[in-house]
Amino acid sequence: MIDAVVLGETMMSLRSTGGWRLGSTATTSIAGAESTVAIGLSRLGHTTRWVGRVGADEPGELVLRTLRAEEVDTSAAVRDEDAPTGLILFEQRTPDVTRVLYHRRGSAGSRLTAQDALTGLTGGTRLLHVTGITPALGPGPLAAVHAAVDHVRESGGLVSFDVNHRSLLWSAREASRVLTPLARKASVLIGSPAELDLVGGGDHVVTKLGADGARVRTPDGSWTAPAYRVRVVDPVGAGDAFTAGYLSGVLDGLPPADCLARGNATGAFAVMTTGDWEGLPTRAELPLLDLDRGSTLR
Ligand code: ADP
Repeated sequence: MIDAVVLGETMMSLRSTGGWRLGSTATTSIAGAESTVAIGLSRLGHTTRWVGRVGADEPGELVLRTLRAEEVDTSAAVRDEDAPTGLILFEQRTPDVTRVLYHRRGSAGSRLTAQDALTGLTGGTRLLHVTGITPALGPGPLAAVHAAVDHVRESGGLVSFDVNHRSLLWSAREASRVLTPLARKASVLIGSPAELDLVGGGDHVVTKLGADGARVRTPDGSWTAPAYRVRVVDPVGAGDAFTAGYLSGVLDGLPPADCLARGNATGAFAVMTTGDWEGLPTRAELPLLDLDRGSTLR
């Protein structure tokens, strides 16, 4: 049995140094909310599998190779011969504003099926993590999320659901209609205050509060934990990083307050570094946050 399976689309990312229309230089990497969580969990020492589709193309190989390098199991990933790997473009328009552009309509990742999801769960998992992005990609991905959630619930595993509303993909109203039934099935529901308003809550609800940290409400009570005070370099990906830390705590059987603290730690690592997942900590690196500013490790 594996510790965690994540299901979703991972794209090739292009991050420019300036405006796209000016012909700026770009750096390639990979991006996807669920695979960021997978990498975060893997770095923290949990066995983790990514399930999704990439195109039978070089960007798809970049996705798979990167995940494998992070010791994320890609054995259930599908290479789709009939559709390309999706792309996400980040443009640093001003020092404070990043513009994001997707090329994902008709992508391999949006052709995910319920069968792909069930194949990916072969052998069993303690935890399934899905997000509200996948259901926005089309009826196949929506069916895949429902099939995976139902399967894991029936086999006694935990289901984590991060609302992750992407307003470029669908309206708040449509997201609310489609995601509310999924949120009800989650063992752990995660979102910002506005996202949680969309789906109406659950038994174990984790609220991400940005620089204010996070809080959790369970049937046994409520806890809050402050964010670490750190220098923010790039806030993108903080939410998924937080989720990886929080779920790592859940897998370790930690009490809710300690899960929050670990989530705040991984969230802090994400905001201190450029890129969605590159700066995520290994388990041995978690205590670095407690060192004084300007420390040198020898
Ligand atoms: P999202 O990226 O989904 O909008 P948040 O902005 O709420 O999520 O950030 C998720 C988590 O990342 C927070 O709960 C916190 O732990 C951490 N975090 C975010 N912003 C900061 C910050 N400025 N300083 C320290 N930690 C932060």
